[in-house]
Amino acid sequence: MKVLVIGGAGYIGSHTTYELIRAGHEVVVLDNLSTGRMGAIHADARFFWGDIRRKSDITKVLLAEEKTRPVDVVMHFAAKLVVPESVLKPLEYYENNVEGVRTMLEAMVDCGVKNIVFSSTAAVYGEPDNPLCSEDDPTAPINPYGETKIASEQLIKWVAAAHGMNYCILRYFNVAGADQSLRIGLDKDQLTHLIPLIMQSALGMREKLSIFGSDYPTSDGTCIRDYIHVTDLAQAHVSGAQHILDTGDSLLLNLGSGKGFSVKEVVDAALELFDFNYEFAPRRAGDPAKLIANSNRAREILGWEPKLSLTDMIKSDYAYRKQLQQDTD
Ligand code: UDP
Repeated sequence: MKVLVIGGAGYIGSHTTYELIRAGHEVVVLDNLSTGRMGAIHADARFFWGDIRRKSDITKVLLAEEKTRPVDVVMHFAAKLVVPESVLKPLEYYENNVEGVRTMLEAMVDCGVKNIVFSSTAAVYGEPDNPLCSEDDPTAPINPYGETKIASEQLIKWVAAAHGMNYCILRYFNVAGADQSLRIGLDKDQLTHLIPLIMQSALGMREKLSIFGSDYPTSDGTCIRDYIHVTDLAQAHVSGAQHILDTGDSLLLNLGSGKGFSVKEVVDAALELFDFNYEFAPRRAGDPAKLIANSNRAREILGWEPKLSLTDMIKSDYAYRKQLQQDTD
């Protein structure tokens, strides 16, 4: 298939591009490089600079590609995704995340592209009564980021129904790790996620890790999350796209391992491999105690199974970060 990856210079977009190319597919990347970087774009992907909020940037690519072979599937990764920032800048988040999706869909309708794979998030579940989340559970986001994702999901469903399109909406849980090539990984300036922050502590780039909250109603008092390796996640995009293309069905799928690890368990797993200091700190605002994916639907429909472990996420993130550190020395 030929895939337009919007946001292919970012963390998950670049990993998905790598997996698409490894599976023999043709990839075109559109990115405004606001948070992504040129070096993350696979050498075999064609790159166009452009902004998702400008329809002509998208139609230009779709029409240019049509001359050789039309784009079969558009994948959308070009979202803003920092929860605390979304609370401070809701207008920016709605404009980029929702207006961006609306514009992209309009361009797809104009150019007759019928398949969309969309990155969504466990944040749509908010603070669920049942921490093992299934796709049909109620959605109740507790921050603007999650709201923009559920609004986009709804918009995609309505547009798909009106214009005969197929969608594959993927709700990610906690994504971590780096590609085996160590050419791409999570390398934003301001990291907020647990595993990269542990690794920065292990590499001496920060004094210590703070564990946010030790009084949650969990076995050791720290929050429980479902961690998934970015390569497993990227492979699910490839299978999901192929599935909607082959069957004409639409999908809404959770992507997680189905296993929960507490923050303390992640810290202990990393301490088995690396040395670093940590402390217990107050709770971080907006953190639910426990979120785990029921990913049975992805297993049943796509035959998808995460292959990589928490240790693989920790080791690959460390190796990638160490390489980044050496490159900047
Ligand atoms: N966390 C932590 N210390 C950190 C960063 C994160 O204790 O420096 C905790 C955070 O409070 C949450 C879990 O690790 O309980 C996962 O947080 P992360 O930001 O990685 O992902 P989120 O679940 O918020 O999407």
